[in-house]
Amino acid sequence: MQLKILQVGEPVLRQQALPLTTEEIKSPKIQQLIELMRATVDGSGVGLAAPQIGEPLQLAVIYDKPEYTKNISAEQLALRERVPIPFHVIINPKITVTLDEKIEFFEGCLSVAGFISLVPRYLAVTVECLNENAEPVVINASGWYARILQHEIDHLHGNLCIDHAVPRSLMTVEHYMKYWQEKPIEQLREILQLGTLSDSVRH
Ligand code: ZN
Repeated sequence: MQLKILQVGEPVLRQQALPLTTEEIKSPKIQQLIELMRATVDGSGVGLAAPQIGEPLQLAVIYDKPEYTKNISAEQLALRERVPIPFHVIINPKITVTLDEKIEFFEGCLSVAGFISLVPRYLAVTVECLNENAEPVVINASGWYARILQHEIDHLHGNLCIDHAVPRSLMTVEHYMKYWQEKPIEQLREILQLGTLSDSVRH
């Protein structure tokens, strides 16, 4: 069974989500919610946060399956530092930037369905959280995985990727595939009249 994914404009997507207690994490309700979120994210995206399915809780699931990248060139994958990430759960996460430098790539969200935009994200982060058994976990992530973590943890604080998007870069996924996908970022910025990158953003 797949849960309905709420779209931008739903108030819950702009709320601060609540942390979970150990008891709550181990409860049948939350364990069932995790299973439903797993089934929902599988095949749809690389991550899903509880507010996206209407639950204002500090819980998200991440799953970047190898199948997702089979049509992306090795060069593009290397540029994004994207490698498959097994399914896992993050609860009550605290995020720290470990590399204070950002990189821009197109990024979408299941709650802003059909659209994509350039979003600068930090290159590396550390996340301290609990897993589905309420055990503490420390994740050191870089590249695309660091991007996914920043995106999902944003959701838990009522923030969306469009809040960080480069103005003028918003487009439909269809048009991204048709016109922009293969273009180097420098060329793309020139055509979109985005100006030069700030010093803190590399590509
Ligand atoms: Zn999202």
